[in-house]
Amino acid sequence: MPSMPQAEPLDYFLARRGIGTWAAVRGLIQSCRVRVDGQVCKHYRRALDQRTVVTVDGNLITDAEDTGTLICHKPAGFACSHAAQDAPLIYDLVPSTWQHPNLQTVGRLDRDTTGLILFTIDGSWAQQIVAPKRTRWKRYRIAYSGDLVHDAVERVAAGLPIGGETTPCLPAHLTCDGVDADALGLATLSLCEGRHHQVKRMIDALGGRVERLHRDRIAGLDLPTDLPVGVMRPLSVSERQLLVSDVNVDGPQLESSAIAQ
Ligand code: URA
Repeated sequence: MPSMPQAEPLDYFLARRGIGTWAAVRGLIQSCRVRVDGQVCKHYRRALDQRTVVTVDGNLITDAEDTGTLICHKPAGFACSHAAQDAPLIYDLVPSTWQHPNLQTVGRLDRDTTGLILFTIDGSWAQQIVAPKRTRWKRYRIAYSGDLVHDAVERVAAGLPIGGETTPCLPAHLTCDGVDADALGLATLSLCEGRHHQVKRMIDALGGRVERLHRDRIAGLDLPTDLPVGVMRPLSVSERQLLVSDVNVDGPQLESSAIAQ
């Protein structure tokens, strides 16, 4: 069942749509320049729903673009970290117009992993996407060396034990997709949790070694085919909805039907 759109506080709404920094947005609200449904609103955290009309100095602020949440096609070689010693950092790729002190990635990908990564300035929204109890299905395309055990698909579906963990992984969905031109095995793995280096450790436990790893889907959101490597852009409101529309109530069957589309 699709979840309800989240109410969004007024200051987030304005900052995300590029009206100004947090301080600037709060200044506008304090100086009575912001109206909500026609009334001056001085309450920063006033919750808005999708029908609320917001104006600044009489100009309508539309809900079309959310500059506080970015979708990026991560290249290999960049760390999802703020620590200078880990450079080059994925934050180095953020254009100056979208830089913000609260900007963080929604979960992490390893330095050598490519594909779909999100950024947001809204930590509570990020938690909705990655919190252990709510983690969305994520789909990884894998090229591996070595041979996977003959019952790899069944073991993954049953909940695979991996080294160094007391509890097996949650049931997940693996398909074996043949070999590439370099004779590496190809596989697709969909997971609804996010343990450290989980894909690499699962492939390890199955007898292979990940050589390339690419994430191309989170929940109902696919990495757009027209988003070049190393580029990011604001997430649209409809794309945001795709992220919260398939909470993992149905287990792996949900993801396998999505892949089959
Ligand atoms: N699992 C991994 O092993 N690495 C990633 O980057 C993501 C998932």
